[in-house]
Amino acid sequence: MASDQEQNGKRLIQLLEKPGNGNCADCGAADPEWVSYTLGVFVCHSCSGLHRNIAQISKVKSILLDPWSSSQVEFVDSVGNDAANAKYEQIVPAFFYRPTYKDCLLLREQWIRAKYERKEFMYVERQEPYSAGYREGFLWKRGRDNGQFLSRKFILTEREGVLKYFNKHDAREPKAIMKISTLNASFQPEKLCNPHGMQITYLKDNSTRNIFIYHEDGKEMVDWFNAIRAARFHYLQVAFPGASHSELLPKLTRSYIKEGFMEKTGPKHTEGFKKRWFTMDDRRLMYFKDPLDAYARGEVFIGSKENSYTVLPGLPGNTQGYRWQFGITIVTPDRKFLFACETEKDQKDWISAFQTVIDRPMLPQEYAGKLNTKSSFNSLISIAESDLSLPFVALSLQWRPILSTNHNRLSV
Ligand SMILES: [Zn+2]
Repeated sequence: MASDQEQNGKRLIQLLEKPGNGNCADCGAADPEWVSYTLGVFVCHSCSGLHRNIAQISKVKSILLDPWSSSQVEFVDSVGNDAANAKYEQIVPAFFYRPTYKDCLLLREQWIRAKYERKEFMYVERQEPYSAGYREGFLWKRGRDNGQFLSRKFILTEREGVLKYFNKHDAREPKAIMKISTLNASFQPEKLCNPHGMQITYLKDNSTRNIFIYHEDGKEMVDWFNAIRAARFHYLQVAFPGASHSELLPKLTRSYIKEGFMEKTGPKHTEGFKKRWFTMDDRRLMYFKDPLDAYARGEVFIGSKENSYTVLPGLPGNTQGYRWQFGITIVTPDRKFLFACETEKDQKDWISAFQTVIDRPMLPQEYAGKLNTKSSFNSLISIAESDLSLPFVALSLQWRPILSTNHNRLSV
């Protein structure tokens, strides 16, 4: 006769079949193997580790490795992922970033704390730090010249439509004013060698600027992130009154399609190859001398195959001056861009990143600069022309493969 414990283990495995239980309650990863027996949810191995940080609320055990009592299984059966999420995710604001298993540890940890520990999605007043339309505080900002992080005061104000920061604590004039309309924020723990490191990108004179920040407190950092998302959401709702949530939400913040080092040459292809850091941000390919540079040395727009953009492995036969052996050629209507990767894997990954955007048809708003007659995209066009644009709408003003104001070509 099977022991009670075996029976309980089997019942738990059967509970995985119930709708909602087949994916981690917190990050959505498939086939969770851990259970919080105080919350009654199935979670993945990675999230189970984060639940251990809130041991006063959540106690986790392995479905397969730990002994289970009948009453524990009974309780888990009575709750389950769908019911728990209906309670703990009652009022997640539309703009709030819901992390997946692909996201950095900080985002996932703070999501779990916000959900179960602070119960931010059960009590609307607890969302004030990111939903009030105004936020100010001190963040460590990386200095442009020496790379040292210095304490700077930041203010995000939806009313003024900007994020700004001040060099001196009593300064009246901000050091930089970043329009919410072109703002992006992404967590970059590896690039900054800091688990709370964040990159903020904005456009100035239609070229990309970067700043790098962090705060020791993980909640502070994620609150800033969601405050920026909230501000962008409210801005976009006004800018595109007819747009649905599902159209706007992907535009609040975005991760880069790919980043990494490649070698590049200039427009004549005889300039010699130099190692540079590349960032593929939607259709905008930028390069930097250093991954933490304040601005790109050059930017190029990658269109779609319908507009004669192609990516090919290898370099033209007569190419010289590269050290890395794995070439890539991007053919655009104007010229060819040549790159060299250090490894075959890098080459494959970059080609697939370029292919992703080349295979994607251009969105109507990406042609905005090309259109001059009235159409259903009129609002997008007028916004693009009045400098209140989304980053990729701004790009569409000149959809030729040249964007940098300083460089007529992606040059060395
Ligand atoms: Zn998970």
